[in-house]
Amino acid sequence: MNSSMRRIVYLSTATRLMSDLELMDVLRVSRENNTRDGVTGLLLYQGGNFIQLLEGESAAVDTVYARVMKDPRHHSVLRMLDNESPERLFPGWSMGFRPTASLGDELKQEIAEFIIKAPQEATTTDGRRALRLVSSFVQSMR
Ligand code: FAD
Repeated sequence: MNSSMRRIVYLSTATRLMSDLELMDVLRVSRENNTRDGVTGLLLYQGGNFIQLLEGESAAVDTVYARVMKDPRHHSVLRMLDNESPERLFPGWSMGFRPTASLGDELKQEIAEFIIKAPQEATTTDGRRALRLVSSFVQSMR
């Protein structure tokens, strides 16, 4: 339990379609930095869209999010969820990644759990809308 734990989910558009090599480069840097910063989460990439969940200590998430927002490899960022959260949903993942065509049952299960748990934490109208977006996006990738 950590009362200052924060979770952000955003949806963005890749500036151009990314190759596997480019995606792996993003992931390598993300995992190194996130391990150092105590940030965990999940990155999905599908047909030119990213959906990323970042969670960790609030100041650490702020720092990573600000850095990621400046990245020219994506744009049109929609912050879909930003709230305090009592616990991590993906504690073991410095940045879990799936090219979503290959979503496995385990990941689907984790995402389903996220969607089920998250509404309890979304107190604002915006939060609920964000969760519906997460849900539709995830469903669209099946
Ligand atoms: P530097 O490596 O010093 O780069 C300077 C600038 O160039 C930065 O704005 C950087 O974003 C940009 N840049 C770097 N490489 C390229 C490239 N190949 N093409 C174009 N521009 C480039 N980082 C994390 O630490 N944690 C994350 O969870 C995370 N998630 C990401 C999710 C997405 C969808 C994307 C696109 C990037 C993500 N990144 C993440 C990478 C992040 O945006 C930074 O590139 C990285 O953290 C290094 O930051 P830096 O300030 O040290 O940049």
